[in-house]
Amino acid sequence: MSTKVVKFGGSSLADANQFIKVANIIRADESRKYVVPSAPGKRFSNDTKVTDMLYACYDLAIGGKDFLILFDEIRARYQEIIDGLGLSLDLSPELETIKNSFMARAGRDYAASRGEYLNGLILAEYLGYSFVDAAEVIFFNEDARLNLSETCRAVKDRLDKTGPAVIPGFYGSMPNDTIKTFSRGGSDITGSIVAAAVNADLYENWTDVSGFLVCDPRIVPNPQPIETITYHELRELAYMGAGVLHEEAIFPVRKASIPINIRNTNKPEDPGTMIVETASNDSCKYTITGVAGKKGFIAMSIEKDMMNSELGFGRKVLQVFESHGISFEHMPSGIDTMSIVVQKGEFEEKEAMIVHALRTAVHPDRIDIDRDIALVAVVGRGMRSHRGTAARIFAALAHAKINVKMIDQGSSELNVIVGVSCEDFETAIKAIYDIFVTEQL
Ligand code: ASP
Repeated sequence: MSTKVVKFGGSSLADANQFIKVANIIRADESRKYVVPSAPGKRFSNDTKVTDMLYACYDLAIGGKDFLILFDEIRARYQEIIDGLGLSLDLSPELETIKNSFMARAGRDYAASRGEYLNGLILAEYLGYSFVDAAEVIFFNEDARLNLSETCRAVKDRLDKTGPAVIPGFYGSMPNDTIKTFSRGGSDITGSIVAAAVNADLYENWTDVSGFLVCDPRIVPNPQPIETITYHELRELAYMGAGVLHEEAIFPVRKASIPINIRNTNKPEDPGTMIVETASNDSCKYTITGVAGKKGFIAMSIEKDMMNSELGFGRKVLQVFESHGISFEHMPSGIDTMSIVVQKGEFEEKEAMIVHALRTAVHPDRIDIDRDIALVAVVGRGMRSHRGTAARIFAALAHAKINVKMIDQGSSELNVIVGVSCEDFETAIKAIYDIFVTEQL
């Protein structure tokens, strides 16, 4: 029988009602053997996630302030779930330990991790699955980086013995047994690790959207869903700000060639998005897989006569950016010009020093800075096999009266990046979506 690891995000486990949906999903497929829960998320739009309540509560505790009122609110969140599910589970001993550990300053990571820990206990009880504390199987090294090989071994050993189990997301333990969490949203990483450890056939990541959309729904209402996306395409889009999944969650499953399926707990009938290692170029519906972008860049163009024959010119320019701790996003170039696109905020803090260092390093004839750049990435494996894709992108932009300030295409032919003015950003995304998707519907 196949094995699936299923991770449920905070909104999927925000209250008893959501727990019931989750249990129905798990029970509908016997292969959903290993479950990774997040802490309870928001029940309504201005609600607070339990993780945020725990951070705030711990801060009060170590600041010597009264933290018990907030602690009781956290207790109430869990009790409401237990009561709503009709369970007789008593979390009082656990909550007492947590309260004492707060007073003993067990750490912010410990505090935050209790959100998934307690949710895991409830979910395991409700499903009749074993509970495996992530602290006993997920290990960080002294330098706070995940020890993936030891972790995979420990997870596999333990799960081989337990059978179906719940493993709380987001945390593990340090060599000195203290608790350490991943960065925010890190339950995605736990799910990926567990999937890799048991060599699952599929890692299902259940959230509150039916997968990735071709573009941001705040820009285009009801955009089409993406059925299949490769890891590589996802990187190109996630990097531009379209993330649904924690970036670091990709590595463990990708290494083990396990696909990820993003699914919607509130619409389990939707197929969601499959994230796979490879997919044929003509398996995508619309030539492009997605279009995403971000405002807030600057483009510095450096001009110097005969630049193209000056050996080491590019290296010296990049060296200046590197030594000021600025990584560049793109670097389109001409014969005697070179442009460097960087994040505006980071750059402007160090602008005077960088310009001075560039003048000294390469003696340019001119340096111009355009401070109004938004980048739009058009991504898709389908672009490789379709002639005229670039022509369609630029025709759409011209038609929408958008001036293109910069163009960059990787040689993988997987993406075309265009720089436009920030005020044209939304119109550009919409124009590209319309030409590739709306007109194909
Ligand atoms: N509960 C944690 C957070 O809010 C981790 C997660 O949900 O993945 O960031």
